[in-house]
Amino acid sequence: YCPDDDLTLPNDDDIFSTLPPLLHGHPDVHLRNGVLTADSNTGPDAERAFFVADISQVYKQHLRWSSCLPEIQPFYAVKCNPDPYVLRLLAALGAGFDCASNGEICQVLDIGGIDPSRIIFANPCKAVSFVRNAAKMDVHMMTFDNIDELYKIARAHPAAQLVLRILTDDTKSLCQLGIKFGAPLAVVPALLAKAKELGLSVIGVSFHVGSGCYEPSVYTDAIRRARAAFDMGVDAGFHFSLLDVGGGFEDALFEQAASFLTDAIDTYFVDRSGLKIIAEPGRFYVSKAFNLATNIIARRAPLGETVATGSSEQPAVMYYINDGVYGAFNCLLFDHQVVHPYVLSMGCSFHVAASEPLQTSSVWGPTCDSIDCVCPSVQLPLALRAGDWLGFANMGAYTVCAASQFNGFQVSKTIYTTGGFRPTEVRALLAKFASEIRVETTADV
Ligand code: PLP
Repeated sequence: YCPDDDLTLPNDDDIFSTLPPLLHGHPDVHLRNGVLTADSNTGPDAERAFFVADISQVYKQHLRWSSCLPEIQPFYAVKCNPDPYVLRLLAALGAGFDCASNGEICQVLDIGGIDPSRIIFANPCKAVSFVRNAAKMDVHMMTFDNIDELYKIARAHPAAQLVLRILTDDTKSLCQLGIKFGAPLAVVPALLAKAKELGLSVIGVSFHVGSGCYEPSVYTDAIRRARAAFDMGVDAGFHFSLLDVGGGFEDALFEQAASFLTDAIDTYFVDRSGLKIIAEPGRFYVSKAFNLATNIIARRAPLGETVATGSSEQPAVMYYINDGVYGAFNCLLFDHQVVHPYVLSMGCSFHVAASEPLQTSSVWGPTCDSIDCVCPSVQLPLALRAGDWLGFANMGAYTVCAASQFNGFQVSKTIYTTGGFRPTEVRALLAKFASEIRVETTADV
């Protein structure tokens, strides 16, 4: 399934005409040839790596969501990528927000015009000061999965609307969350009894099948468990009105996941009158929307030898680029991702012939740490040199949000577009931006 073929993008007079005003006021953003650009690549660090965010891609994902899961309101997981323009677009589209901290809650409320009821504080283990602040900001909906949290909430926010996070099977996901969060069904009756005793209001049940879920059928069992928790709620004297199906949605498997979810909800929640269903998607909305352009700042090749072409196992040449695992590529360590570079420009040309001889190479980040390896082995053109540019697709989820400035390297900035570009067009766009950046090439090697 390729959404590009099936979904028509709105034209300029639709949602995208509202984007430039949304972006208005950003100190670095300008409209150039119909494309919103950030002037981040001038000055002493002219070769700095940069993201291109195609905001229309986020909108496309929203259309996909609404068409496959019309009954489920997305509460975007801010942690995944708190880009201010992604948040503003999703706010304009009526999404809710899953926040994990006071900082995220403030960022969402600062957008303006967002009722606090559109926020779920979806962190089952919160600092008491955060709970108190949530109360002050009228954020009432929050998750819990343990008794201590109930005592804390009873003191700091007795009017909270609690959502019980249950444990579900997360073994089919890249990032398993069950070792840290989620109450097993066996302890649910005791938790609900304690909530009742403390006079707290529990309004529903949530779960998370793990982030990067590659087996969409797990949603069926998760919904079955949620049903069991709903029934335990009745036994404890509650009448739940909220079902939160969490995140885990992978772009390529989204339609399948939606189908399993819909069938399971039909089976286990036959009477849905008075039931609100929400989800906490993160990765699904932003992964594809961000591409990263990196500059090759250095190369190490065997001295005085002709480098062998072809697919020798051992990388012959090492390329050093200006973003790494301490920056945007932290997703390699924390999010278990594997990335594949493509050549954006070579020798000042943006047309790299398919016949270009290749060699086994490795790609490294800019820091002095040897863990900073972006690609241990990849086929790249023999003629690739310092000054050339490498691109990386699908860089929107769990990348920039966890990037550090280790070794004094700045976090890569973002250039925004609203064009509804196809993946090939985004590549061309990256190349175009790279061409506007004058970078010294090492023509002597
Ligand atoms: N909700 C919670 C509580 C999470 O911890 C996460 C990710 O860790 C998400 C939602 C978003 O998950 P995903 O990006 O897989 O959709």
